[in-house]
Amino acid sequence: MALPQHLSGDVVAINAFIDKFDVFLLDCDGVLWSGDHLFEGIVETLEFLRSRGKKTVFVTNNSTKSRPEYQKKFTAMGIPSDVEEIFGSAYSSAIYISRILKLEPPKNKVFVLGEAGIENELRTENVPFIGGTDPSFRRDMTPEDWQGIADGSLLDPEVGCVLAGLDFHVNYLKLSHAYQYLRRGAVFLATNVDSTFPMNHNFFPGAGSISVPLINMTGQKPVALGKPSQAMMDAIEGKFQLNRERTCMVGDRLDTDIKFGIEGKLGGTLAVLTGVNKQADWEAKDAAAVPAFYVDKLSDLRAAAQ
Ligand code: PLP
Ligand code: CA
Repeated sequence: MALPQHLSGDVVAINAFIDKFDVFLLDCDGVLWSGDHLFEGIVETLEFLRSRGKKTVFVTNNSTKSRPEYQKKFTAMGIPSDVEEIFGSAYSSAIYISRILKLEPPKNKVFVLGEAGIENELRTENVPFIGGTDPSFRRDMTPEDWQGIADGSLLDPEVGCVLAGLDFHVNYLKLSHAYQYLRRGAVFLATNVDSTFPMNHNFFPGAGSISVPLINMTGQKPVALGKPSQAMMDAIEGKFQLNRERTCMVGDRLDTDIKFGIEGKLGGTLAVLTGVNKQADWEAKDAAAVPAFYVDKLSDLRAAAQ
């Protein structure tokens, strides 16, 4: 496998790189910012790409926020953005359910393991749901739960899908409900399958780790709707009328971002070294994916602005 071309400091190579593409799909955490810390020069770099006529689309696996909630983060960070150019895994899941699955009554409800961001995107797509942040699911099991879940009297017969995202209140009661719906034939979806996500210079359990107990219980794997799932790429292609050959995926993770771009047969992939993966990761024998290009940091592209 050919190693990526290093662009940092090489103005000719950066210009040639930028000219290859009309659209940049940009991962967020690890590329634009880390947690709540905006990387230096990002606002100017996005401005520069836009001034060269490039379209920017922000593609994040963070399922805890809806697009309007995520846009608030962009505004708080001082990055001008349009809600329509934000594409998160909660949105990706909601549109997959409403436009591809098209659940029909009497089995058109979704049982949600996840936070308000998922609920808000489902609401926008008019998809009925239960679970999620409903406080009646945030408690210990009672003897009535054990009985009512076992005999089905506490289950909603209209549930036809289980959607697992990052749920900060996951518990035995929710897992028991989700398991029974899956046993009864509900479609199994996951917003994304990231095992962990970076936070405060460490890692925490990711959305993918919420669906693992259900995979263990059922032996089934969910259809995943975040990067590197091509269901997400297809939705992005449809929404933005992508010419894949003229599109570049930019990200910090090989197993989500770079794989997403390669499997989506995009014209290019650009890795940045400001996030999870480093050069040694794609040089390793068992590398999850190898990017076509890399920069030390996204703002290195600005060298071509002078
Ligand atoms: N999931 C959660 C809950 C996160 O907080 C993050 C990053 O903040 C991610 C996933 C990864 O997001 P991205 O795809 O933007 O790197
Ligand atoms: Ca990232």
